[in-house]
Amino acid sequence: MLGVTPVPVRDDLRALEGYHSPQVDVRVRLNTNESPVEPPAAWRDAFAAELSRVQWHRYPDRAATQLRAEIAHLHGVQPGQVFAANGSNEVLQTLLLTYAGHGRAVATFEPTYQLHGHIARLTGATVIETDRAADFSLDLDAALATVAHHRPVVTFLCSPNNPTGLVEPRSNVEALLEAVVAVGAGLLVVDEAYGQFADWSALTMIDDDVPLVVTRTFSKTWSMAGTRLGYLIGPAWLVDELDKVVLPYHLDAAKQIAGRLALRYADEMEQRVAGIVAERERIVRALDALPVDHFPSGANFVLFRPRNVPGRQVWHALVDRSVLVRDCSSWPRLDDCLRITVGTPAENDAFLTALQEVVS
Ligand SMILES: *Cc1c(COP(=O)(O)O)cnc(C)c1O
Repeated sequence: MLGVTPVPVRDDLRALEGYHSPQVDVRVRLNTNESPVEPPAAWRDAFAAELSRVQWHRYPDRAATQLRAEIAHLHGVQPGQVFAANGSNEVLQTLLLTYAGHGRAVATFEPTYQLHGHIARLTGATVIETDRAADFSLDLDAALATVAHHRPVVTFLCSPNNPTGLVEPRSNVEALLEAVVAVGAGLLVVDEAYGQFADWSALTMIDDDVPLVVTRTFSKTWSMAGTRLGYLIGPAWLVDELDKVVLPYHLDAAKQIAGRLALRYADEMEQRVAGIVAERERIVRALDALPVDHFPSGANFVLFRPRNVPGRQVWHALVDRSVLVRDCSSWPRLDDCLRITVGTPAENDAFLTALQEVVS
């Protein structure tokens, strides 16, 4: 081997840190907000049957026509208003490659999903981070001032918000959208990765005349994180632009089938959501009895802060008991905070038993 020094990365990426969510080998994994249960067995069978008929020597349908049509049908929009990609992260990446970039601003309200700012920085955009209020709800006045002052090309909301679980009230989304429209050259993007857990959706506000985009994913409520499939609903003119930027044939044939077939099991998905909400409420009641503070969640996870033991120490002690949660303690303003994804009843019991030992 020649002694080659590592080639320097782009100047504007030097300070960037990657996405950190350790994949530790434990019995109970409650750290990445997946569904604790598998998709329906009937979906597996239908998927296997269709896979056996795929023409593997041919490129897949580049426009993912059927998948888009069925997603559009699910939400009562036009197929031309649907853009699908490899996870909603790739949806966000395509959106930001198309609209962000050098010399443009992207607004986030912190704490929120870290990938919004991260991917925006990868495109070279300037990220304007505005703090949420003390209880992590949106500070609407501060948010409106950010939009008016910085005129971001993309303004992100996340509802329910990750990692806090807070559902954004409709009035906030409407007010922010009005501000974005007033600025005249920006998009409001509402990340609804956990949208099925909320009591309302910004999907009802989608219109070709409105600069609003809603992103969704198959990873969480649809029990299909292994597939890597997500999508957005937005104006048709925006979807046309994204189609020019995304790599050709980015959605493989298997994934298109997986997503299309999953939509047949929407009822089962809703049942899984209801079961997870019931378990979430059980976890919250159990946390009430422990020396921990927790944040009200409208999602499939709960953010909590042990009162007497440092968060990092609790995280390690839980791993020692083969329970993995998300350590959010190094994030700004989330010191000592941990986030637990709702699992199966048995997994949640294992978590609660371990947590009680650690914090009592
Ligand atoms: C999990 C998550 C995503 C990413 O979903 P993928 O479809 O798996 O890429 C996007 N946004 C939020 C808020 C998430 O929590």
